[in-house]
Amino acid sequence: MPSNLADNDPRHGALAGYRQGCRCRACRDAWNAWSREARYRRQAKITPDDPRHGTASFYRNHACHCDRCLAAQRWLRQLTKDSA
Ligand SMILES: [Zn+2]
Ligand SMILES: [Zn+2]
Repeated sequence: MPSNLADNDPRHGALAGYRQGCRCRACRDAWNAWSREARYRRQAKITPDDPRHGTASFYRNHACHCDRCLAAQRWLRQLTKDSA
């Protein structure tokens, strides 16, 4: 399948690139990582209204990479960086 993306498209290596029909190595890697996470989330029965969202431990221990957990993880990294 020919790629729908130009070589310099910034979406390579992101889920968006794969969804555009690109099957280059980087895009397939992004897709694989995403499917792994999706499968894990299903197994772990993580629901969008889980009260643990927004904590760095949820991000780490449950591999939840939703916006709220990502933000918590970034925030924690920022904290530890500042105190170092
Ligand atoms: Zn690609
Ligand atoms: Zn989350």
